[in-house]
Amino acid sequence: MIAAEINVMMPMNPPKPVRGRFAPSPTGALHLGSLLTALGSYLHAKAQGGEWWVRIEDVDRDRELPGAAESQLDSLRRFGLEWDGEVVRQSARGALYQAALDSLLTRGLAFECHCSRNDLAANHGLHRHCLARSRRPQPAFRFRVHPGCKMDFHDEVLGSQSQQVDREVGDFVLKRADGHWAYQLAVVVDDGAQGITEVVRGADLADSTARQILLQKALALPTPRYLHLPLLLDENGRKLSKSLAALPLDTEHALPALRLVWQALGQPAKAVAAAANPQQFLSLALANFEPGRIPARPSALHNMVFTNPA
Ligand code: GLU
Repeated sequence: MIAAEINVMMPMNPPKPVRGRFAPSPTGALHLGSLLTALGSYLHAKAQGGEWWVRIEDVDRDRELPGAAESQLDSLRRFGLEWDGEVVRQSARGALYQAALDSLLTRGLAFECHCSRNDLAANHGLHRHCLARSRRPQPAFRFRVHPGCKMDFHDEVLGSQSQQVDREVGDFVLKRADGHWAYQLAVVVDDGAQGITEVVRGADLADSTARQILLQKALALPTPRYLHLPLLLDENGRKLSKSLAALPLDTEHALPALRLVWQALGQPAKAVAAAANPQQFLSLALANFEPGRIPARPSALHNMVFTNPA
């Protein structure tokens, strides 16, 4: 009774709005694998009444393909995947990443590192102590991972996950010696700054999650919910990006591709059979999406029908 009265009197924090995101790197056109991530993250956020944001992860200017970001955004529109808010580009956010790095350096949670790949080769590239034989003109910066550091987290599809970060990853890079910001730092700063509550992305990034949670804790940022989507495999069991099916999507024929990735997300084909265009597809998909059906194992494309059943 007393507890109930106190609850009524206490000002409550308003619940945070659900906000998901799709964060492509502009290294090429959208392909089936990226469409699966785009659709999965869109449905997951929208089915909860949330927002879906798009962020262009262009920190690595060397890997960027000119025009790819615009082509990816254009494809999303053609697939009916309209985003909320402004599209954010990581290339314009260096000051935020620098402030985060400075804060880690000041507190001794990050350090300057002159080690080269060669210096670390004997340790399989894993950094535990600086072994540099000479100073570099421009050092890298790493996050200090303490001995015995183990990170457990829950993934909505993969279940309980655990990584022994000191032994499996080591002190990881926050800013590279070539001056580029590392993905791990940029993604954590941006997810925090943008108020992202749901991180839904491909299973190839599940391995990065422990590092990202460590950084969130070090920067006093909230940890979002994580859901890693199945990778697409071709008929030979290879990751899609290495095969023919990684070719750019045909945006003139959006429906067959949408149906295919819907099935790869473990959702029943018949639920969206009546759709005649991407907009109808998305409203049927939203009404019928069940995240609990998403498979934890990779989805083999040849088991699905790549035709329009309507
Ligand atoms: N930019 C990454 C990629 O295209 C995705 C990062 C993320 O979703 O955390 O693979």
